[in-house]
Amino acid sequence: MSFDYIREIPKPREILAAMPLDQELSEIKRKRDLEIKAVFTKESGKFLLVIGPCSAHDEDAVCDYIGRLAQVQARVAEKILIIPRIYTNKPRTTGMGYKGMAHQPDPQEAPNMVQGIKAIRRMHIRALRDSHLPAADEMLYPGNYPYLEDLLSYVAVGARSVENQAHRLTCSGLDVPVGMKNPTSGDIQVTLNSIQASQTPHTFIYNRWEVKTSGNPLTHAVLRGAVNHLGLAVPNYHYEDLMTFAEAYLKRGLDYPSILVDTNHANSNKKFTEQPRIAREIMQSRHQSTVLREMICGLMIESFIEEGGQSSRGRVYGKSITDPCLGWSDSEKLILELAEMV
Ligand code: PEP
Ligand code: MN
Repeated sequence: MSFDYIREIPKPREILAAMPLDQELSEIKRKRDLEIKAVFTKESGKFLLVIGPCSAHDEDAVCDYIGRLAQVQARVAEKILIIPRIYTNKPRTTGMGYKGMAHQPDPQEAPNMVQGIKAIRRMHIRALRDSHLPAADEMLYPGNYPYLEDLLSYVAVGARSVENQAHRLTCSGLDVPVGMKNPTSGDIQVTLNSIQASQTPHTFIYNRWEVKTSGNPLTHAVLRGAVNHLGLAVPNYHYEDLMTFAEAYLKRGLDYPSILVDTNHANSNKKFTEQPRIAREIMQSRHQSTVLREMICGLMIESFIEEGGQSSRGRVYGKSITDPCLGWSDSEKLILELAEMV
């Protein structure tokens, strides 16, 4: 193997012992998990917003942003449950570019995964302590989940990972909702196959153990638009797309059929300022169909303090270094508006 073994990564139990989550925050997360779960089981009529930057590259800016979310959350608590996006691993289309804080705790410095794992845990704990809003992260490397398992209330599997057996099987053992993105091709059946796989119990190898899982009934779909063979974005948030998907989903007989719609990525063609319009259209569609109203239980929105994006070497505070995001004032306005539309 032409691997250069740089340094050994501490085991999850060593990192958790050195950086524990205190009882009070654990209890806050436990209660929040129940509230979020109730949305998927349809015992709650609240609407989920998984919202935040494309990537969390700066702890101070992320905690500042999430503190703002917490204030808006208090104003819309009757209608909306906010789950901050704190995404610390970034899948890259060509393998090039910033791979997230887990790789590079400082985007200006060389990768260091031992420091990266500590940095993401530190940031997630601080964000929870400051905001009392347990977060979402993307599962890019299934084996790394135990480093954050006591902190995450929502897990997303990205469009490039959703066909991967290791992701699907790992998610079958999680106790929190898992959103399976549609693959970049947009294939409806692949999305549903992934949900089915994750809702089923499995025996497999995980982090050098033979493990058995119970299946995760809270695994559901996240529609993020597709890219066709010519490289053009093909949205899947319009009424007809949602109805076609909902019908195929219901036919499968899966547990708690639920959909989140991602308003950025191939749905906006990364024109981040389109997100409020797209979000409004989805809310209208929910009012046109009882099936959609029941199944579409939230949105995923890319939002940060400053609008737009900058290069991974950029130093503008609170501005995304991956996909361009909606700025804070538009995001706040949108959340308040969505609360009126639920
Ligand atoms: C993201 O949520 O930032 C992301 C990378 O999504 P997707 O996997 O849908 O491209
Ligand atoms: Mn993104």
